[in-house]
Amino acid sequence: MPNAKAYSAASATSPLAPETIQRREPTKRDVSIEILYCGICHSDLHAVRNEWESVMPTVYPIVPGHEIVGRITKVGSEVSGFKEGDLVGVGCLVDSDQSCPSCRADVEQFCPEAVFTYNSPDKHNTAPVTYGGYSESIVVDEKFVLRVPDNLDLAGVAPLLCAGITTYSPIRRWGDIQGKKVGVVGLGGLGHMGVKFAKAFGAHVAVFTTSPSKKEDALRLGADEVIISKDEEQMKQHAGSFDFILDTVSADHDVNVYLGMLTLDGNLTLVGAPDKPLEISAFALLFGRKSLSGSLIGGIKETQEMLDFCGEHNITADVEVIPIQQVNEAYERMNKSDVKYRFSIDMASLKY
Ligand SMILES: [Zn+2]
Ligand SMILES: [Zn+2]
Repeated sequence: MPNAKAYSAASATSPLAPETIQRREPTKRDVSIEILYCGICHSDLHAVRNEWESVMPTVYPIVPGHEIVGRITKVGSEVSGFKEGDLVGVGCLVDSDQSCPSCRADVEQFCPEAVFTYNSPDKHNTAPVTYGGYSESIVVDEKFVLRVPDNLDLAGVAPLLCAGITTYSPIRRWGDIQGKKVGVVGLGGLGHMGVKFAKAFGAHVAVFTTSPSKKEDALRLGADEVIISKDEEQMKQHAGSFDFILDTVSADHDVNVYLGMLTLDGNLTLVGAPDKPLEISAFALLFGRKSLSGSLIGGIKETQEMLDFCGEHNITADVEVIPIQQVNEAYERMNKSDVKYRFSIDMASLKY
């Protein structure tokens, strides 16, 4: 089996360090990809430190990374959608049963047999679990490979594969937001993409943030206004006025406050995952017939639609490009929200 250079963590308390892993020989339906960039998602940090043990315990060593952009180096004999040299992306999913109701409805992320890009049992038995994108290469079934528009900055494309689709999907699902008042809670990796997409779809976009220092940047990213959530006066002015709110915050926070910002039949969709259960007041939903939803990444078809949309509208994530040797430092900084707005690893650095 082909070897690949990678970065892995050996335990919940170990730093990421260089390692050589194996990738499978491509099957007839597989493509081999040379990875050019991989974004750093907050989930990578949670998985490396086994912080989601109760839901998805981490199997070590772990090679994280599910915001992958690269170039195809080899295709299997039955691959029909791709050829050598194509620019492609791989997101959070690398396989599913391709037959259950979720797969038939193009929402493979909810397939009971979904195989995630890292830390999922490896059906091909190359390793105990799948290994992600902090690596020089990956081998993936063509059905889970996305075409990447060639007019975009590739370092900034990588985060679209998770942060991008995570925010694009709920906005699309809500419906036509043209001219509607849309709120984005939190301005981090997810929030900054939410602002870009809501704006591109023609909404009036307001960012809710606790830090006044983020105001200028929110406006630069396309927000029409910024609401400081700690400022009761400002919050009162906007109460009951939003059609849709995308809540990207993973820290503990009071969702009822944002339900109060919604208008009749308004919806708040959660895409962040706070550790503790949320407390919801029924009255906050009853009055105004409001709804509260969740959303998780997106299916392959919708992820392709999102990438094509980004190509047409020239949308990428704002990234800080780093060599992989700085990944541990990047984790520390990400934990303190000290990044605008995503780290993207230049995988050429693995060759040093
Ligand atoms: Zn992610
Ligand atoms: Zn399925």
